[in-house]
Amino acid sequence: MKYIDPHIHMISRTTDDYQRMAQAGCVAVTEPAFWAGFDRSSAKGFFDYFRHLTEQEPRRAADYGIQHFCWICINAKESEDVGLSREVIQLIPEFLDKPNVLGVGEIGLNKNSRNELAIFEEQVAVAAEYGQLILVHTPHLEDKLKGTRLIMDAVERNGKIDPGRVLIDHVEEHTIKLVLDRGFWAGMTLYPETKCTPQRAADIIETYGSERIWINSAGDWGPSDPLAVPKCQIEMKRRGHADATISKISFDNPMTFLGQCAKFRIDG
Ligand SMILES: [Zn+2]
Repeated sequence: MKYIDPHIHMISRTTDDYQRMAQAGCVAVTEPAFWAGFDRSSAKGFFDYFRHLTEQEPRRAADYGIQHFCWICINAKESEDVGLSREVIQLIPEFLDKPNVLGVGEIGLNKNSRNELAIFEEQVAVAAEYGQLILVHTPHLEDKLKGTRLIMDAVERNGKIDPGRVLIDHVEEHTIKLVLDRGFWAGMTLYPETKCTPQRAADIIETYGSERIWINSAGDWGPSDPLAVPKCQIEMKRRGHADATISKISFDNPMTFLGQCAKFRIDG
């Protein structure tokens, strides 16, 4: 069954992963700008990273018939350095014009610190100014609930952002209802063992339905599985869900949310 992986860090994956994803039905990916596993030493490091996301990675994906889109920002972890963050924020507008850039992301919070929140708000303001979609990273483990609330409050405070144009990612059982009730989209990131597994994601869909929800693999430099989305499709099929429901969370919903950006088109 065809699918879109709307949150995967292909820069950390091998070309073999592209091949296996294509064989499993992947037609498009979107890659948020994120931490690289180490702190970059200057804004120039981010400039080259953004070039990689907008020039190099789309070419690599195209060899396997996968369309590659991305998001530009400074991530929550490195935004603790406010000076560096502001230099990186200056770089964002020129990249927003690139043909595969869908918006600002993944911005958010890591440890819910004051600096992170300040930089988050500044990037929400950039998204508002340039009319961009937003993809949000929420903190993991015990900081998630508080961080998710801080994030939604900050977006609402901006006053110019429609929550239907913001996807809040890495939701879990204790945050998904909150996110959906306030009009935002929710993303479930599937990890092989820790955090949200394909089985837990299927449970969550059975509890909260399939409106304004998508699934993704994160597929980054840490323990993760670039085939997590098709594995969740198989888990849902095993439980007897209709193909229409499975397609909704793994293809149709990403199409609807991402399609709010005119640059997002699936060929063929
Ligand atoms: Zn990510």
